[in-house]
Amino acid sequence: MGEQVIVLTELTKQYGNFTAVDHIRLNIRQGEIFGLLGPNGAGKSSTLRILLGLDRPSSGTALIGGKKYCDIERPLLTVGASFDGVGAPSDRTVFQHLKIAAASNGIDFSRISEVLSITDIEHKRYSKIGNLFLGEGQRLGIATALLGNPQYLIFDEPTNGLDPSGIRWFRNFIREQASNGKTVLLSSHILSEVEAVTDKVVFIDKGSIIASGTLHNILNGFDNLEDVFFHLTGGDYDE
Ligand code: ADP
Repeated sequence: MGEQVIVLTELTKQYGNFTAVDHIRLNIRQGEIFGLLGPNGAGKSSTLRILLGLDRPSSGTALIGGKKYCDIERPLLTVGASFDGVGAPSDRTVFQHLKIAAASNGIDFSRISEVLSITDIEHKRYSKIGNLFLGEGQRLGIATALLGNPQYLIFDEPTNGLDPSGIRWFRNFIREQASNGKTVLLSSHILSEVEAVTDKVVFIDKGSIIASGTLHNILNGFDNLEDVFFHLTGGDYDE
């Protein structure tokens, strides 16, 4: 068992009177592929946004490698993250986008060809971001996350927009990363996709953890994670 490298302690996020994340505790060990699961609106993105320093918690802490994200120097060398979309101007090219990201963290531009090759979008190098298909945008997000060859990879809904072959590619990619000792945290509302790739999962519903453990323990006789969720909440799994 690796050491605990991503640790959330009583993490809570309130928007006004509404509690989106409610005292979440999470310990992720090095080399794990960890799935953060739950229906839309469960609080997954809010949790990841805090972990990545994009938002502040109302209370509690979120640490990566023992540090808050904002205290990590040249963060792309430690943490790679991809959220829905690339978040760059649509008239910028793929190559320009990667150059800017690399330069901001002192990463050699030779790495750009490597990440384009890993994510299989070399042929899009000079395409404008606005002209990419959704799945290509996801791959560019992943390519950007990989620029600094980081130890931790955090993906929010990474399979959104990927076609079936893209989803298969993503699974193999994640497994390869973990076998190289990387720690992967991903969120998804599509349970079947996560089931195929994660070691451990946490179920979040209405901001709270309702189950956590190894995939094997969580399934515990159920056919799939959707049935587990139904059993836990007594309601339909509302994607
Ligand atoms: P998930 O990623 O699981 O779909 P989110 O973390 O995006 O869930 O959202 C959790 C809840 O918090 C939702 O009810 C959402 O509407 C609410 N929420 C998220 N961001 C904000 C915000 N900036 N202001 C108010 N409510 C928000």
